[in-house]
Amino acid sequence: MIERLDAVELEEIRDDFPILQQRVHGKPLIYFDNAATSQKPRQVIETLNDYYRRYNANVHRGIHALAERATREYELARHTIAKFINAPAPETVVFTRGTTEAINLVAYSWARANLKQGDEILITWMEHHSNIVPWYQVAAATGAVIKRIDLNADGTLAIPAINPRTKLVAVTQCSNVLGTINPVKELAAAAHKVGALILVDGAQSVPHLAVDVQALDADFFVFSGHKMLGPTASGVLYGKRALLEGMPPFMGGGEMIREVSATGFTTNDLPYKFEAGTPNIAESIGLGIAVDYLQKVGLDKIRQHEKEITAYALERLQEMIEIKIYGPLDAEKRGGLVAFTFSDIHPHDLATFFDQEGIAIRAGHHCAMPLHKHLGIGATARASFYLYNTRAEVDALVATLQKAKKFFGACPTGRALGF
Ligand code: PMP
Repeated sequence: MIERLDAVELEEIRDDFPILQQRVHGKPLIYFDNAATSQKPRQVIETLNDYYRRYNANVHRGIHALAERATREYELARHTIAKFINAPAPETVVFTRGTTEAINLVAYSWARANLKQGDEILITWMEHHSNIVPWYQVAAATGAVIKRIDLNADGTLAIPAINPRTKLVAVTQCSNVLGTINPVKELAAAAHKVGALILVDGAQSVPHLAVDVQALDADFFVFSGHKMLGPTASGVLYGKRALLEGMPPFMGGGEMIREVSATGFTTNDLPYKFEAGTPNIAESIGLGIAVDYLQKVGLDKIRQHEKEITAYALERLQEMIEIKIYGPLDAEKRGGLVAFTFSDIHPHDLATFFDQEGIAIRAGHHCAMPLHKHLGIGATARASFYLYNTRAEVDALVATLQKAKKFFGACPTGRALGF
């Protein structure tokens, strides 16, 4: 039986998000910018408040009651998150400030130590800048070469046989523009066949669907807390233990050392070797509570809800001849977001018009400039959904597009779906 959120549950969820109760420009807020960052439930907000009011202290250092409680809650969050992604042990979960920092950690530590001239790093056209630029920097430092997996006409990956020169496949599990959900398990198997590793960018997948890093056989898996109901500046690098153990530290400082002498240092155990300095304590604890919240609702229910909202949005948007939707048109193959252009109206003008109606959408290149260039467009408008969005809000999106059409005097550009 398919489990879905019923109307009562949806209302209860919405009540947990104080920000959704407000009006923007005199209209009830409709928040459709979840791919950029999600809103936070009161449970997470109260956790941050509680930390600063009751047990603010540095972790792993003090032996007073506050420090012990802060350390306990911080490590409890690591346990919760490790279980959530089915990591084999909490030590394989390194706290970072987000996806970008986690990818840079692997790029600075593993890649610079292991790649050489002529080695290949395989990415895709649909990567976010944070899964492109660190590899350009690695290529410049080591002489490695960047290659890209091509796109099919429907915005899915045209997966090639992987070249034996490939040492790393770095791929997003879900595109933040096309919405495409990529077959990372199959890519991991193909990468391993030629002795390459795979790094999976889970920024747009972990918040929305159940992820099991062991079942995927991911070598590195990264994601951001702020897109999954958690605080900003929280995030995770998961890595296979043997890999993390073999990697040099990314940053030097307190906590990452076992001993420091007059001339050198030895490194701490996992995961502390990669957590130099005072970490993001409140944020990581808050992320643990966000994960509790997601698990209480149930990731399968969240995925089902978003699939239904997305399918409905795709259906309603396609009623308009002026729309061009990017990515697969089947909600099964995509996450809960839709990027589009609408007639000859610039996406920034559309986003400004939507804002006046209290609807937050995003416009621009969404940190995926190579993808937009590849598609021959400068920008798209993007509506991205989460567990608290409703069908009625999708109706408002469509009604506002119709209003925009009249306002801007848009002319139909003909039906052109997909690429
Ligand atoms: N990868 C993808 C697919 C993303 O959507 C984002 C955020 N838009 C990032 C990476 C970067 O995440 P952060 O800014 O939280 O580090």
